[in-house]
Amino acid sequence: MRRDTPLRVAIIGAGLGGIAAAVKLRRHTSATVVIFEQSAGVGGTWFDNRYPGCEVDVHSHAYSFSFLKYDWPRTHATQPELLAYAQHVVEHFGLTPHVRLNTRVTDLVWEESTSTYTLSTEHGDSAEFDVVISALGLLSVPRYPEWPGLDTFAGPCFHTSRWEEHDLAGKAVAVVGTGSTSVQIVPAIASTAGKVYVYQREPGWIEPKNEREFGPRERWWYRNVPLAQRASRAWIFHKGNRRFKGYDTGSRRQRRMRDLCQRFIAGTIRDPKTRAAVTPDYPWGCKRPILSSTFYPSLNRVNVELVPHAVREVTPTAVVDATGAAREVDVLVLSTGFQPTRFLASIDVKGRDGRSIHDAWRERASAFMGITVPGFPNFFILYGPNTNGGVSVIAQLERQAEVVVGAVRRLSRVRRGNIDTSPAAARRFVEWVDRRLATNASAMESGCHNYYHDPAGHNVTQWPGGHLAYAVATRVIARFGLKTRSS
Ligand code: NAP
Repeated sequence: MRRDTPLRVAIIGAGLGGIAAAVKLRRHTSATVVIFEQSAGVGGTWFDNRYPGCEVDVHSHAYSFSFLKYDWPRTHATQPELLAYAQHVVEHFGLTPHVRLNTRVTDLVWEESTSTYTLSTEHGDSAEFDVVISALGLLSVPRYPEWPGLDTFAGPCFHTSRWEEHDLAGKAVAVVGTGSTSVQIVPAIASTAGKVYVYQREPGWIEPKNEREFGPRERWWYRNVPLAQRASRAWIFHKGNRRFKGYDTGSRRQRRMRDLCQRFIAGTIRDPKTRAAVTPDYPWGCKRPILSSTFYPSLNRVNVELVPHAVREVTPTAVVDATGAAREVDVLVLSTGFQPTRFLASIDVKGRDGRSIHDAWRERASAFMGITVPGFPNFFILYGPNTNGGVSVIAQLERQAEVVVGAVRRLSRVRRGNIDTSPAAARRFVEWVDRRLATNASAMESGCHNYYHDPAGHNVTQWPGGHLAYAVATRVIARFGLKTRSS
């Protein structure tokens, strides 16, 4: 029997994932949608990350929604542009009245008799929903180091995702870490700061990003010529899907990527010692590839010093590296990354029989296609386990949102129903992922630190293919794979 009232859907997170889900649900279903957002604005990672030089390293035509043409000013959008984009999409699709800002969701509890979740917030209120979507993002929990003496440091000290505005003119700044974030910050602050020390524990492979403003003619073209932006997007995805062959251990494309990065080092860094220090000794693709045209040139500046060592300790005025050398600094920037393997760290989700999702994930975090977890009916995760990668995360998020739309449409055909994943399907998915990732450059055997593995050594973050494979698989699941059960 059909439901006589619309399904109530809660979305947790108003980042680009939550926005994609809300737009698609409102367009293709009759469900009512409420988006809970802990921050004071929409945009997710682009709301939180406001450090100097912050911009996306995926081409704007791919790092944007397929369902809305947008007049991008640059090949790679800056953080303020991305934040403005998120706000534009929210307004364009009339989502503003459905967003509850400054509201952190703390608990979700499944109630079998009503096939609903009780959702509680930090403000102590709660409400019932038929379907809940977690859109918390992957890189939102900062990873703080535990160096002795860190809490004694007398000057400003902060993580990159909690950037503090300080006048850096003439100051000595230590930036610890050399991942995708640091390579944007260092060139951006080098012309203001008196001295920048860049602490590198293990170098990453860096390729040129080649970002630029679009010229007026190009902008006109993408704005006015039908399908121009779509064709550009299709080309980027085609190139991105081919690039994924580079992750096959020992492949020709992997060697070509390494050669490209080595030529980039040789052509941009003047000092031979620095050239040697930034050259990784593990295969390309082991760590998340880094894109930056400006980081290596910034290392040629007289006021920038690469310190190719880990940090041993911090004193009130200095950072001491692993060799024991102390450098006096005024400001300490922790560009030490995130804890992506701690999925849903900030929420307690209780599914069937009151079981917590963190208990279900005791051995490892996993979800069928990264989206559904057996025993947690009508609960869907965007950017969940093993979905990272695939050309542009926005496209991955859209595919996940489409699976949710398929589920919500099915659920709205029954009065009280639920969709749950069979443990066997979820297990087969994980086994397939593990088999594919065993020959992937990101495997532990490749010999680098990366943030893909949980403490037990499972790669729980990466999707082992390009976007095309994910798009086909999720399309099939959205159409045929979701079985509704009446309760
Ligand atoms: P990250 O890639 O995890 O890099 C963290 C850096 O900090 C690494 O160099 C790491 O060294 C170092 N580190 C961590 N703990 C340390 C410790 N205790 N002592 C010394 N060094 C330490 O983090 P991220 O740079 O913030 O980037 C995270 C992800 O955010 C990226 O991979 C990317 O997915 C995303 N991101 C995207 C963009 C974009 O444009 N789309 C921009 C920025 C970030 P080891 O390498 O030795 O571990």
